Amino acid sequence: MTAPSKNRDISLASVEPLARPNPSSPASHPHRLLHAPLHAHMKKSLRVMKFGGTSVADASCITKVAHIVRDAVHQSSVAVVVSAMSGVTSKLIEAAAQAEAGNRRGVASIFEELRERHLSVVSALVHSTHKRQRLDRKLRALVQTAGVLCEDVLSRRELTLRVCDSITALGERLSVLLVAAALAEHEVASEAIDATELVVTDANHGAAEPLMELTRERCEARLRPLLLRGIVPVVTGFIGATVDGALTTLGRNSSDFSGTILGAALDADEVTLWTDVDGVLTADPKIVPDARSILEMSYPEACALAESGAKVLHPKTLRPIMQRGIPLLIRNTFAPDRPGTKITASGPRHGTRS
Ligand code: ADP
Ligand code: ASP
Ligand code: MG
Repeated sequence: MTAPSKNRDISLASVEPLARPNPSSPASHPHRLLHAPLHAHMKKSLRVMKFGGTSVADASCITKVAHIVRDAVHQSSVAVVVSAMSGVTSKLIEAAAQAEAGNRRGVASIFEELRERHLSVVSALVHSTHKRQRLDRKLRALVQTAGVLCEDVLSRRELTLRVCDSITALGERLSVLLVAAALAEHEVASEAIDATELVVTDANHGAAEPLMELTRERCEARLRPLLLRGIVPVVTGFIGATVDGALTTLGRNSSDFSGTILGAALDADEVTLWTDVDGVLTADPKIVPDARSILEMSYPEACALAESGAKVLHPKTLRPIMQRGIPLLIRNTFAPDRPGTKITASGPRHGTRS
Protein backbone atom coordinates (compact mmCIF):
# COMPACT_ATOMS: atom_id res chain seq x y z
CA MET A 1 0.00 0.00 0.00
CA THR A 2 1.18 3.50 -0.59
CA ALA A 3 1.23 5.93 2.29
CA PRO A 4 -1.68 8.39 2.10
CA SER A 5 -0.82 11.81 0.73
CA LYS A 6 0.49 14.20 3.33
CA ASN A 7 -0.91 17.12 1.39
CA ARG A 8 -4.50 16.13 1.09
CA ASP A 9 -7.08 18.68 2.01
CA ILE A 10 -8.72 18.13 5.35
CA SER A 11 -11.44 20.50 6.31
CA LEU A 12 -10.79 21.29 9.93
CA ALA A 13 -7.16 20.48 9.47
CA SER A 14 -5.26 17.88 11.29
CA VAL A 15 -2.08 18.92 12.91
CA GLU A 16 0.15 16.31 11.42
CA PRO A 17 -2.27 13.89 9.85
CA LEU A 18 0.44 11.34 9.37
CA ALA A 19 2.96 10.95 12.12
CA ARG A 20 6.55 10.93 10.96
CA PRO A 21 9.12 8.62 12.46
CA ASN A 22 11.75 10.26 14.56
CA PRO A 23 14.99 9.27 12.82
CA SER A 24 17.02 10.32 15.83
CA SER A 25 15.20 7.83 18.02
CA PRO A 26 16.42 4.26 17.41
CA ALA A 27 13.73 3.01 19.80
CA SER A 28 10.91 4.34 17.67
CA HIS A 29 8.92 2.09 15.35
CA PRO A 30 8.95 3.98 12.09
CA HIS A 31 5.53 3.92 10.58
CA ARG A 32 4.41 0.50 11.49
CA LEU A 33 0.87 1.60 10.70
CA LEU A 34 1.57 3.47 7.53
CA HIS A 35 3.53 0.67 5.95
CA ALA A 36 1.25 -2.13 7.07
CA PRO A 37 -0.55 -3.76 4.15
CA LEU A 38 -4.16 -2.69 3.78
CA HIS A 39 -5.52 -6.16 4.63
CA ALA A 40 -3.66 -6.07 7.94
CA HIS A 41 -6.21 -3.52 9.21
CA MET A 42 -9.36 -4.95 7.66
CA LYS A 43 -10.22 -7.74 10.09
CA LYS A 44 -9.33 -5.80 13.23
CA SER A 45 -11.99 -5.04 15.75
CA LEU A 46 -13.04 -1.42 15.97
CA ARG A 47 -13.05 0.49 19.22
CA VAL A 48 -14.52 3.96 19.63
CA MET A 49 -12.92 5.81 22.53
CA LYS A 50 -14.43 8.99 23.89
CA PHE A 51 -12.34 11.15 26.21
CA GLY A 52 -14.17 13.61 28.46
CA GLY A 53 -13.17 17.12 29.51
CA THR A 54 -11.15 16.06 32.56
CA SER A 55 -9.24 13.56 30.39
CA VAL A 56 -8.01 16.42 28.17
CA ALA A 57 -7.76 19.10 30.87
CA ASP A 58 -4.06 19.85 30.35
CA ALA A 59 -0.93 18.62 28.57
CA SER A 60 -0.21 15.86 31.06
CA CYS A 61 -3.78 14.49 30.79
CA ILE A 62 -3.60 14.64 26.98
CA THR A 63 -0.34 12.69 27.12
CA LYS A 64 -2.16 9.97 29.09
CA VAL A 65 -4.82 9.93 26.37
CA ALA A 66 -2.11 9.50 23.73
CA HIS A 67 -0.66 6.55 25.67
CA ILE A 68 -4.05 4.85 25.89
CA VAL A 69 -4.68 5.29 22.16
CA ARG A 70 -1.13 4.25 21.22
CA ASP A 71 -1.55 1.02 23.19
CA ALA A 72 -4.99 0.36 21.67
CA VAL A 73 -3.94 0.76 18.02
CA HIS A 74 -1.67 -2.26 18.35
CA GLN A 75 -4.76 -4.42 18.87
CA SER A 76 -7.65 -2.76 17.06
CA SER A 77 -8.74 0.00 14.78
CA VAL A 78 -9.52 3.04 16.90
CA ALA A 79 -11.70 6.11 16.41
CA VAL A 80 -11.42 8.81 19.06
CA VAL A 81 -14.08 11.30 20.16
CA VAL A 82 -12.98 14.25 22.25
CA SER A 83 -14.71 16.76 24.55
CA ALA A 84 -13.57 20.30 25.09
CA MET A 85 -10.97 20.77 27.85
CA SER A 86 -12.79 20.87 31.18
CA GLY A 87 -14.51 24.17 31.88
CA VAL A 88 -14.07 25.49 28.33
CA THR A 89 -17.68 25.04 27.14
CA SER A 90 -18.97 26.81 30.24
CA LYS A 91 -16.56 29.69 29.57
CA LEU A 92 -17.76 29.93 25.97
CA ILE A 93 -21.40 30.03 27.09
CA GLU A 94 -20.42 32.79 29.50
CA ALA A 95 -18.65 34.68 26.69
CA ALA A 96 -21.76 34.45 24.52
CA ALA A 97 -23.93 35.72 27.38
CA GLN A 98 -21.50 38.57 28.09
CA ALA A 99 -21.61 39.49 24.41
CA GLU A 100 -25.39 39.62 24.48
CA ALA A 101 -25.20 41.82 27.58
CA GLY A 102 -22.81 44.18 25.76
CA ASN A 103 -19.76 43.45 27.94
CA ARG A 104 -16.95 43.65 25.36
CA ARG A 105 -14.21 43.51 27.99
CA GLY A 106 -15.67 40.45 29.63
CA VAL A 107 -15.78 38.67 26.27
CA ALA A 108 -12.20 39.67 25.42
CA SER A 109 -10.87 38.45 28.72
CA ILE A 110 -12.54 35.04 28.35
CA PHE A 111 -11.12 34.59 24.85
CA GLU A 112 -7.68 35.70 26.01
CA GLU A 113 -7.75 33.15 28.83
CA LEU A 114 -8.94 30.34 26.54
CA ARG A 115 -6.32 31.16 23.89
CA GLU A 116 -3.50 31.16 26.45
CA ARG A 117 -4.70 27.91 28.05
CA HIS A 118 -4.70 26.08 24.72
CA LEU A 119 -1.43 27.63 23.51
CA SER A 120 0.31 26.61 26.71
CA VAL A 121 -0.74 23.01 26.06
CA VAL A 122 0.72 23.25 22.56
CA SER A 123 4.07 24.42 23.94
CA ALA A 124 4.14 21.56 26.42
CA LEU A 125 3.11 18.90 23.89
CA VAL A 126 4.78 19.73 20.60
CA HIS A 127 8.55 19.64 20.37
CA SER A 128 9.25 20.80 16.83
CA THR A 129 9.20 24.60 16.57
CA HIS A 130 7.84 24.46 13.05
CA LYS A 131 4.92 22.16 13.99
CA ARG A 132 4.24 24.21 17.10
CA GLN A 133 4.02 27.42 15.11
CA ARG A 134 1.66 25.84 12.59
CA LEU A 135 -0.59 24.56 15.34
CA ASP A 136 -0.50 27.91 17.16
CA ARG A 137 -1.72 29.58 13.99
CA LYS A 138 -4.59 27.13 13.60
CA LEU A 139 -5.68 27.55 17.21
CA ARG A 140 -5.49 31.34 17.01
CA ALA A 141 -7.55 31.33 13.81
CA LEU A 142 -10.26 29.16 15.40
CA VAL A 143 -10.38 31.35 18.51
CA GLN A 144 -10.61 34.41 16.30
CA THR A 145 -13.53 32.95 14.34
CA ALA A 146 -15.51 32.46 17.57
CA GLY A 147 -14.44 35.97 18.64
CA VAL A 148 -15.91 37.38 15.43
CA LEU A 149 -19.21 35.62 16.17
CA CYS A 150 -19.21 37.24 19.63
CA GLU A 151 -18.48 40.63 18.04
CA ASP A 152 -21.58 40.19 15.96
CA VAL A 153 -23.62 39.32 19.06
CA LEU A 154 -22.16 42.40 20.79
CA SER A 155 -23.25 44.70 18.01
CA ARG A 156 -26.74 43.21 17.63
CA ARG A 157 -27.28 42.51 21.35
CA GLU A 158 -28.98 39.33 20.27
CA LEU A 159 -27.88 35.75 20.81
CA THR A 160 -29.70 33.09 18.84
CA LEU A 161 -29.42 29.40 19.74
CA ARG A 162 -27.83 28.83 16.35
CA VAL A 163 -25.05 31.37 16.96
CA CYS A 164 -24.60 30.12 20.52
CA ASP A 165 -23.98 26.62 19.11
CA SER A 166 -21.30 27.95 16.76
CA ILE A 167 -19.58 29.81 19.59
CA THR A 168 -19.63 26.88 22.01
CA ALA A 169 -18.34 24.45 19.35
CA LEU A 170 -14.94 26.14 19.65
CA GLY A 171 -13.94 24.02 22.67
CA GLU A 172 -14.08 20.69 20.83
CA ARG A 173 -12.61 22.20 17.67
CA LEU A 174 -9.55 23.20 19.68
CA SER A 175 -9.22 20.02 21.72
CA VAL A 176 -9.20 17.66 18.71
CA LEU A 177 -6.18 19.55 17.39
CA LEU A 178 -4.38 19.11 20.70
CA VAL A 179 -5.13 15.39 20.89
CA ALA A 180 -4.09 14.85 17.25
CA ALA A 181 -0.85 16.72 18.01
CA ALA A 182 -0.17 14.53 21.04
CA LEU A 183 -0.80 11.39 18.95
CA ALA A 184 1.64 12.63 16.31
CA GLU A 185 4.24 13.10 19.06
CA HIS A 186 3.66 9.44 19.95
CA GLU A 187 3.93 8.32 16.33
CA VAL A 188 0.29 7.44 15.99
CA ALA A 189 -1.17 8.45 12.63
CA SER A 190 -4.32 10.48 13.18
CA GLU A 191 -6.54 13.08 11.61
CA ALA A 192 -8.58 15.70 13.45
CA ILE A 193 -12.12 15.79 12.06
CA ASP A 194 -15.00 18.16 12.71
CA ALA A 195 -18.20 16.23 13.47
CA THR A 196 -20.12 18.68 11.27
CA GLU A 197 -18.80 16.44 8.50
CA LEU A 198 -20.19 13.29 10.11
CA VAL A 199 -23.07 13.72 12.52
CA VAL A 200 -26.18 14.84 10.66
CA THR A 201 -28.85 16.21 12.98
CA ASP A 202 -32.22 17.93 13.00
CA ALA A 203 -32.22 21.71 13.42
CA ASN A 204 -33.03 21.70 17.14
CA HIS A 205 -30.13 23.94 18.14
CA GLY A 206 -28.80 23.24 21.62
CA ALA A 207 -30.37 19.77 21.82
CA ALA A 208 -30.13 18.36 18.31
CA GLU A 209 -31.04 14.76 17.53
CA PRO A 210 -28.93 12.70 15.15
CA LEU A 211 -30.34 11.40 11.87
CA MET A 212 -28.70 8.01 12.02
CA GLU A 213 -28.96 6.82 8.43
CA LEU A 214 -27.33 9.96 7.02
CA THR A 215 -24.76 9.89 9.80
CA ARG A 216 -23.93 6.29 9.00
CA GLU A 217 -23.39 7.13 5.31
CA ARG A 218 -21.12 10.04 6.18
CA CYS A 219 -19.12 8.01 8.67
CA GLU A 220 -18.65 5.18 6.19
CA ALA A 221 -17.51 7.58 3.48
CA ARG A 222 -15.26 9.73 5.64
CA LEU A 223 -13.98 7.52 8.45
CA ARG A 224 -13.86 3.98 7.06
CA PRO A 225 -11.07 4.73 4.55
CA LEU A 226 -8.97 6.23 7.36
CA LEU A 227 -9.61 3.27 9.66
CA LEU A 228 -8.66 0.83 6.93
CA ARG A 229 -5.33 2.57 6.67
CA GLY A 230 -4.71 2.51 10.40
CA ILE A 231 -5.26 6.25 10.76
CA VAL A 232 -7.07 7.26 13.95
CA PRO A 233 -9.87 9.77 13.32
CA VAL A 234 -10.00 12.27 16.20
CA VAL A 235 -13.54 13.62 16.09
CA THR A 236 -15.12 16.53 17.93
CA GLY A 237 -17.75 15.43 20.44
CA PHE A 238 -20.81 17.60 21.22
CA ILE A 239 -21.42 18.94 17.71
CA GLY A 240 -23.10 18.01 14.46
CA ALA A 241 -24.71 19.80 11.54
CA THR A 242 -28.04 19.84 9.77
CA VAL A 243 -28.31 18.47 6.22
CA ASP A 244 -27.90 22.08 5.09
CA GLY A 245 -24.63 22.33 7.00
CA ALA A 246 -25.76 24.56 9.90
CA LEU A 247 -23.73 23.67 13.00
CA THR A 248 -25.75 22.21 15.87
CA THR A 249 -24.89 20.97 19.35
CA LEU A 250 -26.35 17.89 21.01
CA GLY A 251 -26.63 19.46 24.49
CA ARG A 252 -24.40 19.90 27.54
CA ASN A 253 -22.29 16.90 28.44
CA SER A 254 -23.29 15.21 25.17
CA SER A 255 -19.91 13.98 23.96
CA ASP A 256 -20.84 10.62 25.53
CA PHE A 257 -23.76 10.60 23.07
CA SER A 258 -21.40 11.58 20.21
CA GLY A 259 -19.26 8.57 21.11
CA THR A 260 -22.14 6.11 20.86
CA ILE A 261 -23.54 7.80 17.73
CA LEU A 262 -20.20 7.18 16.02
CA GLY A 263 -19.95 3.69 17.52
CA ALA A 264 -23.37 2.76 16.10
CA ALA A 265 -22.72 4.47 12.77
CA LEU A 266 -19.49 2.50 12.32
CA ASP A 267 -20.82 -0.75 13.81
CA ALA A 268 -18.01 -0.67 16.34
CA ASP A 269 -17.22 -3.68 18.50
CA GLU A 270 -17.28 -1.51 21.61
CA VAL A 271 -17.46 2.09 22.77
CA THR A 272 -15.42 3.24 25.76
CA LEU A 273 -16.08 6.44 27.67
CA TRP A 274 -12.78 7.40 29.26
CA THR A 275 -13.37 9.64 32.26
CA ASP A 276 -12.00 10.56 35.69
CA VAL A 277 -13.56 7.76 37.79
CA ASP A 278 -13.37 3.94 37.83
CA GLY A 279 -16.54 3.47 35.80
CA VAL A 280 -20.03 3.69 37.21
CA LEU A 281 -19.98 3.66 41.00
CA THR A 282 -22.70 2.93 43.53
CA ALA A 283 -22.92 6.72 44.07
CA ASP A 284 -21.16 9.87 42.90
CA PRO A 285 -17.71 9.50 44.54
CA LYS A 286 -17.53 13.30 44.96
CA ILE A 287 -20.47 12.97 47.37
CA VAL A 288 -19.93 9.44 48.73
CA PRO A 289 -16.16 8.87 48.92
CA ASP A 290 -16.40 5.13 49.64
CA ALA A 291 -18.73 4.43 46.69
CA ARG A 292 -17.82 1.17 44.92
CA SER A 293 -17.30 0.47 41.22
CA ILE A 294 -19.92 -1.62 39.47
CA LEU A 295 -18.26 -4.19 37.26
CA GLU A 296 -21.16 -4.92 34.93
CA MET A 297 -24.56 -3.43 34.25
CA SER A 298 -27.38 -4.08 31.80
CA TYR A 299 -28.55 -1.47 29.32
CA PRO A 300 -31.80 -0.83 31.23
CA GLU A 301 -29.91 -0.40 34.52
CA ALA A 302 -27.49 2.04 32.92
CA CYS A 303 -30.34 3.92 31.20
CA ALA A 304 -32.14 4.30 34.50
CA LEU A 305 -28.97 5.63 36.12
CA ALA A 306 -28.29 8.07 33.26
CA GLU A 307 -31.87 9.30 33.25
CA SER A 308 -31.74 9.84 37.00
CA GLY A 309 -29.09 12.50 36.32
CA ALA A 310 -25.82 10.71 37.21
CA LYS A 311 -23.29 12.87 35.40
CA VAL A 312 -21.10 9.94 34.45
CA LEU A 313 -23.49 9.06 31.59
CA HIS A 314 -25.37 11.51 29.37
CA PRO A 315 -29.04 10.38 29.36
CA LYS A 316 -29.07 9.68 25.60
CA THR A 317 -25.82 7.70 25.58
CA LEU A 318 -27.26 4.19 25.39
CA ARG A 319 -29.84 4.91 22.71
CA PRO A 320 -27.73 4.50 19.55
CA ILE A 321 -25.98 1.29 20.63
CA MET A 322 -28.67 -0.74 22.42
CA GLN A 323 -30.37 -2.09 19.33
CA ARG A 324 -27.04 -3.17 17.88
CA GLY A 325 -25.90 -4.77 21.12
CA ILE A 326 -22.64 -2.80 21.20
CA PRO A 327 -21.04 -2.96 24.68
CA LEU A 328 -20.32 0.33 26.45
CA LEU A 329 -17.35 0.55 28.79
CA ILE A 330 -16.68 3.34 31.28
CA ARG A 331 -13.04 3.53 32.30
CA ASN A 332 -10.63 5.77 34.12
CA THR A 333 -8.09 7.66 31.98
CA PHE A 334 -5.95 8.10 35.10
CA ALA A 335 -6.07 4.41 36.09
CA PRO A 336 -6.29 2.57 32.76
CA ASP A 337 -5.34 -0.77 34.35
CA ARG A 338 -8.64 -0.88 36.24
CA PRO A 339 -11.54 -2.58 34.47
CA GLY A 340 -14.19 0.08 35.07
CA THR A 341 -17.77 -0.81 34.14
CA LYS A 342 -19.03 -2.86 31.24
CA ILE A 343 -22.60 -2.22 30.11
CA THR A 344 -24.20 -4.90 27.94
CA ALA A 345 -27.62 -6.21 26.96
CA SER A 346 -27.30 -9.18 29.32
CA GLY A 347 -25.95 -7.24 32.29
CA PRO A 348 -24.17 -8.37 35.41
CA ARG A 349 -22.84 -11.79 36.10
CA HIS A 350 -20.75 -10.90 39.16
CA GLY A 351 -22.53 -7.97 40.83
CA THR A 352 -20.55 -5.17 42.43
CA ARG A 353 -17.01 -5.24 43.68
CA SER A 354 -15.16 -2.96 46.05
P1 ADP B 1 -16.37 13.52 31.49
O1 ADP B 1 -15.83 14.91 31.46
O2 ADP B 1 -15.35 12.47 31.35
O3 ADP B 1 -17.56 13.35 30.57
P2 ADP B 1 -18.17 13.91 33.73
O4 ADP B 1 -17.69 14.93 34.72
O5 ADP B 1 -19.22 14.36 32.78
O6 ADP B 1 -16.91 13.30 32.98
O7 ADP B 1 -18.70 12.60 34.49
C1 ADP B 1 -17.86 11.97 35.43
C2 ADP B 1 -18.29 12.39 36.81
O8 ADP B 1 -19.58 11.86 37.07
C3 ADP B 1 -17.44 11.83 37.93
O9 ADP B 1 -16.30 12.61 38.19
C4 ADP B 1 -18.41 11.78 39.11
O10 ADP B 1 -18.23 12.87 39.97
C5 ADP B 1 -19.78 11.94 38.45
N1 ADP B 1 -20.72 10.88 38.86
C6 ADP B 1 -22.00 11.08 39.24
N2 ADP B 1 -22.59 9.94 39.55
C7 ADP B 1 -21.69 8.95 39.38
C8 ADP B 1 -21.72 7.53 39.51
N3 ADP B 1 -22.81 6.87 39.94
N4 ADP B 1 -20.60 6.84 39.22
C9 ADP B 1 -19.49 7.47 38.80
N5 ADP B 1 -19.41 8.80 38.64
C10 ADP B 1 -20.48 9.56 38.92
N1 ASP C 1 -18.02 20.17 25.97
C1 ASP C 1 -19.44 19.87 26.11
C2 ASP C 1 -19.93 20.31 27.48
O1 ASP C 1 -19.13 20.71 28.32
C3 ASP C 1 -19.75 18.43 25.85
C4 ASP C 1 -19.06 17.43 26.77
O2 ASP C 1 -18.06 17.74 27.41
O3 ASP C 1 -19.54 16.30 26.83
O4 ASP C 1 -21.10 20.30 27.70
MG1 MG D 1 -19.56 13.93 30.72
